[in-house]
Amino acid sequence: MIRFEDLVEKVRASNPDADSELLRRAYVFSAFEHKGQVRHSGEPYLVHPLEVANLLAEMKLDVVAIAAGLLHDIVEDTQTSIERIRELFGADIAHVVEGVTKLGAIQFSSSEERQAENFRKMLLAMVDDIRVILVKLADRLHNMRTLHHLPEERRLVIAQETRDIYAPIANRLGMSKVKNELEELAFKYLEPKAYESLRQRVEGRRRATEGLIEELTKTISAKLTEAQVPVMHIDGRIKRLFSIHQKLKKQKIDLDQVYDFMALRIVTQSVKDCYAALGIIHQTWSPVPGRIKDFIAMPRPNGYQSLHTSVISERGFPFEVQIRTAEMHRIAEEGIAAHWKYKEGRVGADRDEQYFLWLRQLLEFQQEVRDPQEFLQNLKIELYPEEVYIFTPKGEVKALPRDATPVDFAYSIHTDVGHQCVGARVNGKMVPLRTRLRNGDIVEIVTAPGHQPSRDWLNFVVTSRTRNKIKHYIQGEEKQRSLELGRKLFEKEARRFNLNIRSLTDGPAFAATLTEYGYGKADELFAAIGYGKVAARTILTKLVPQEQLKEAPESGIASVVRRVLGPAEEKIKVRGFDDLMVFRARCCNPIRGEKIVGYITRGKGVSVHSASCSNVVNLLYDPERRIEVEWDKGADTSPYTVRLSLHVEDRKGILADVTSKIAGINTNIRNVEARSDDDQTGRIDMTVEISDVKHLQKVIKSLRSVDGVVDVERASR
Ligand code: MN
Repeated sequence: MIRFEDLVEKVRASNPDADSELLRRAYVFSAFEHKGQVRHSGEPYLVHPLEVANLLAEMKLDVVAIAAGLLHDIVEDTQTSIERIRELFGADIAHVVEGVTKLGAIQFSSSEERQAENFRKMLLAMVDDIRVILVKLADRLHNMRTLHHLPEERRLVIAQETRDIYAPIANRLGMSKVKNELEELAFKYLEPKAYESLRQRVEGRRRATEGLIEELTKTISAKLTEAQVPVMHIDGRIKRLFSIHQKLKKQKIDLDQVYDFMALRIVTQSVKDCYAALGIIHQTWSPVPGRIKDFIAMPRPNGYQSLHTSVISERGFPFEVQIRTAEMHRIAEEGIAAHWKYKEGRVGADRDEQYFLWLRQLLEFQQEVRDPQEFLQNLKIELYPEEVYIFTPKGEVKALPRDATPVDFAYSIHTDVGHQCVGARVNGKMVPLRTRLRNGDIVEIVTAPGHQPSRDWLNFVVTSRTRNKIKHYIQGEEKQRSLELGRKLFEKEARRFNLNIRSLTDGPAFAATLTEYGYGKADELFAAIGYGKVAARTILTKLVPQEQLKEAPESGIASVVRRVLGPAEEKIKVRGFDDLMVFRARCCNPIRGEKIVGYITRGKGVSVHSASCSNVVNLLYDPERRIEVEWDKGADTSPYTVRLSLHVEDRKGILADVTSKIAGINTNIRNVEARSDDDQTGRIDMTVEISDVKHLQKVIKSLRSVDGVVDVERASR
């Protein structure tokens, strides 16, 4: 068991000016408060805060953090209040203890909703004072080290929480030493069988591997000396069990195929020496293609820097080499804790700012998110940063999460670039916007002024920033659009009965109706009508006596006016491929130029059908809800996908003839399927991109001209 004197010595070694008197008072107070309490191990409780303080001292944190480590369980486990701690030890220490106590009260394994709320609190605590989370991590690390004393049920809960939350947070803060130990311990308790069998297999190879490490270290050392590349130290290690386990599971490979089962680490004095050493390594052994990673030029978002490469030894044994400077090494191991001690006056807090940036952004974007499921999903993406590096055509690098798309990339450049993005060139080629980007892709975004984000993008974008930007935009648009729509619908309905809109909305009856429906303003009511939540007719019945709501025959004057000026009533315009409140019905999938009709649909706005849609023809829709619609000329010109079904003679080469005919008239094919029926005939189903009804007619006509094509039909979905 560690003694308090050892702790003070450790603190003094890295910080001679540390206030050891403060630490002593915290220690004595903690000993007094926890007196008589024991841990599951049977040891006096005091061992725990002392060990936690020791871990914090090893991270070389300040006395506030270490004292808070000594005091961290007092408020939770004794009668003493946080006010008392504030009186005795000051506001800073009390603040950290309070934060840790609050985090301790959080149950992460509870229902999803509470979990999301708890995450939010935890993140807020972190942004507030990072020492809260550092003390909590030290607390969790010591609890994990002594987890075997706990009953199994508790062990599993704590280990799961460690794997899901604390290890990823340590990782995000760059604290790989802490993260690694937390992950290994969680693996041991969560999957004891897998852990034990892997441990034995790795153990079986340990002796041979260690011999090899020694041999390779000597070789490298000699080569580097010969080339006059100064090296601070070289060490070798066997990959951690948990990361081997993950690798085997993910890549479905055998232990022998793990390239970085064994890794050598070379620590140099300068960046220049890192690259020099890399050159020497590649001259000595053959590098494995595609495994060279330059995290010095492109640090990971958590600040990690290093050169990685995998090479094959003379005996055909692959191993990984990591090369970094001493400073990079320290940051790789300790992350934010490595920066912490500089904060008090000496060096600027810029690096810390970087660590916090992702957190601040996350919180900022999360403030609007009400759905806990969605919050958790966003958070998961942020906490498990498997990122890809993407280049702008000018060579600028952006780190994006794995599976990011050109749309995510566009939003990472600027919100407006995202909103107006219509296409992307990846490595010089145009690709669909839903394409998953890969490491090293050079991406150029094509924008069109005035273009709007599409709801469809939400199905494939990856970063929460992008999602939130798109949603925010769509919600604003939707509101605007449903307001416009609702007002038109109301006006149209009023006109049917020759009612004056001005006098309808000015009177007290209108105000009373707003109150009855719980709307503050007329606009809110109109928006609700536009959404289909309330029918315009229902509102009218509130405003005028029933007998006025009989369809009046058009008055003489009105019909003259109409004849002179054309129809007074404005049609609802359909903007095209991706309209927000006016959407194309799935049953007939109408395309630009086709004759269309609209129906108000509850809570969705207006659904637009082809006038020839069988559902419309068969009067499946309530004519009361029918409204006039027309295509908005000059709006969105993105292509529609249309499915065509071809009845063909079953002859060789017909598929090739059909596809080349389509390509010949500049039409994109999304998908083709061909099959033959029994009677010497076949069927080709294809999905093509069509801009409007004229284009469709042209495609059908030229398909019919192909030799062997019997018939072409537009397939309903
Ligand atoms: Mn504790």
